[in-house]
Amino acid sequence: MAIRTRFAPSPTGLLHVGNVRTALFNWLFTRHGGGAFVLRIEDTDRERSTLEHEQGILSELGWLGLDWDEGAGGGAVGPYRQSERHELGIYHRELGRLLDHGDAYYCFCTPEQLEVDRQESLKAGRPPQYVGRCRANSPEQARNRQAAGEKPVSRFKVPPGKVVFQDLIRGPIEVDASQIGDPVLFRSDGWPTYNFAVVVDDIQMKITHVIRGEDHISNTPRQILLYRALGAEPPRFAHLPLVLGMDHAPLSKRHGDTSLRQYREHGYLPEAVFNYLALLGWSSPSGHEVFSKEELVREFDLSRVGRSAGVFDPAKLDWIANQHIRKADPARLADLAVPFLQHRGDLPEPISLAQRAWVAGLMELLRDSVSRLCQVPETDAAQILLHFEPSICRTDPEVQADLKDPTCRAVIRTFAELLPHDRPIDLEIYRRIAQETGKATGTKGRSLYHPIRVALTARGSGPELNRLVPLIEGASALQLPRSVPGCARRATSVAEQLGVDA
Ligand code: GLU
Repeated sequence: MAIRTRFAPSPTGLLHVGNVRTALFNWLFTRHGGGAFVLRIEDTDRERSTLEHEQGILSELGWLGLDWDEGAGGGAVGPYRQSERHELGIYHRELGRLLDHGDAYYCFCTPEQLEVDRQESLKAGRPPQYVGRCRANSPEQARNRQAAGEKPVSRFKVPPGKVVFQDLIRGPIEVDASQIGDPVLFRSDGWPTYNFAVVVDDIQMKITHVIRGEDHISNTPRQILLYRALGAEPPRFAHLPLVLGMDHAPLSKRHGDTSLRQYREHGYLPEAVFNYLALLGWSSPSGHEVFSKEELVREFDLSRVGRSAGVFDPAKLDWIANQHIRKADPARLADLAVPFLQHRGDLPEPISLAQRAWVAGLMELLRDSVSRLCQVPETDAAQILLHFEPSICRTDPEVQADLKDPTCRAVIRTFAELLPHDRPIDLEIYRRIAQETGKATGTKGRSLYHPIRVALTARGSGPELNRLVPLIEGASALQLPRSVPGCARRATSVAEQLGVDA
């Protein structure tokens, strides 16, 4: 039988790491085994559900590359939005069947009564579940009370016995029905509850595997009983371990960014986030950690999902993210980095082709050192290239000491004098002038190249000069919001900082 899974977010907020990981595992399981991945919108919480959140969720899933076979956009067993299904009377019809068979009943207990019951149960050491007072109401009594204007909820009549199921991750689970209070199926406002709608939908959508967070495990026994009452075979269940923060507390806002949108906004590559999320609870038998999407589809298996919580480690995410940036096409990285540079005022809007090509060159230089593209404007390289400031050499402690050395000063001056001002400095010219400077000042190695670095960057450290020089010259030829001096002008202005003494 072909696999059918679903991801069923409630559009009440942003898509968070834990939920996305659930979506990802469903998707990987389905793509690995072959089948359909269904996206269902669970918007029965009318107060908190919004279309804006729904669109946000769809957009984030699309960004991550979790495409769905049925859901928004259609499918054979739709609609896939619970509010629309409710409008069509789907849940009422199923409730009618349960009421007709005596598997459900109307409950008129007031919230105050329920609270008194709860307190009494707690006092007596019983689980604080519904006491079943309205079970005994005859259908006629219920009809009369409704006709008189009372607004009941409907409850499922949990049958006695044991519920046993084999969780694909956690193994056999057994719960006695006496531990399950009769759950509400329809609220007094006329909307179905989560537990009821989800079972009706999973049956009609022919879901074969329910893969979801462990926080839902206590719902599963009552849902299994509902499947049976509705005459359907329950699907297989797999409850994923929780995602915790580094302090082993459930992941929450205080752990920093936990919504997928923030990762996107910070310029993480989607394939990197995809890779990292897959490792939150799953591991490869090979011990490898860096995977493409295709490799994950090939390798993913629920049997490799552990029972212990996945710990969300931002440093590890950054490491994985950097591994993916190293492999990515610099032109693509450039497109993703441009908005961050524009935001800093380093690039105009729109940019020219030449500017884009220059950013691609910058990304080749930076790919080893960044994990997310928002870091690009802050890197030493971007600062050196786009925010050259000769006076820094007088305050940079690494440089200050060197500038006291007459040889260092001589190298800077000579290099500045020898560099031609009337043409671009390509690598060949740069190397030749560096050699000539070495000869003229009797220096080589660090005592030659360190002062040259100071001359070109005003700093004591930074990327390799051979890689910087073409980018400096390239930037100087671009129309940038803040004009960038070329090598010759840089060296001259650093030499000027040395003053007239010595
Ligand atoms: N709408 C539920 C949630 O977001 C779905 C739970 C389920 O997968 O059954 O938690």
